Amino acid sequence: MSDLSLLNDVWYKDGLRFKCTGCGMCCTGEPGYVWLEEEDIERLSKRLNLPREVFLKRYTRQVGNRISLTEDPQSYDCVFLKDKKICTLYEDRPKQCKTFPFWKDALKSPKAWEETKERCEGIDHPDAPCIPLEEIQNQLD
Ligand code: SF4
Ligand code: SF4
Repeated sequence: MSDLSLLNDVWYKDGLRFKCTGCGMCCTGEPGYVWLEEEDIERLSKRLNLPREVFLKRYTRQVGNRISLTEDPQSYDCVFLKDKKICTLYEDRPKQCKTFPFWKDALKSPKAWEETKERCEGIDHPDAPCIPLEEIQNQLD
């Protein structure tokens, strides 16, 4: 069996409906982590015109050997969320944010996808287009 045919066997082979409404729910509401990769740190430091170390100290926390954005300890708003809805660095947001909801855990089964839908109104939204398999796979990579 080729890799391509393996890919076509996934449960979401016909695509998934999603359109981000900008509701901001995935940026607040419950304790969580926005993990940063090195490219995220470089991009965000540059965007904020800050030296890397200043950016890290001001906006991030170390969790084990990984780095996450900080969040408000009461509301759990991400440090970059404004007015509960607006990501103040949307175009440069971390990869983890850009790829939501197409995360491996969310795609592991239809049940996991349904559970993700409870946290994201963009999944199966009436205005949502069908995102094709290839595009979903690119987000996963
Ligand atoms: S919860 Fe879903 S629809 Fe709302 S901002 Fe996040 S990705 Fe977009
Ligand atoms: S960086 Fe932006 S998109 Fe990501 S969690 Fe924070 S506010 Fe939301």
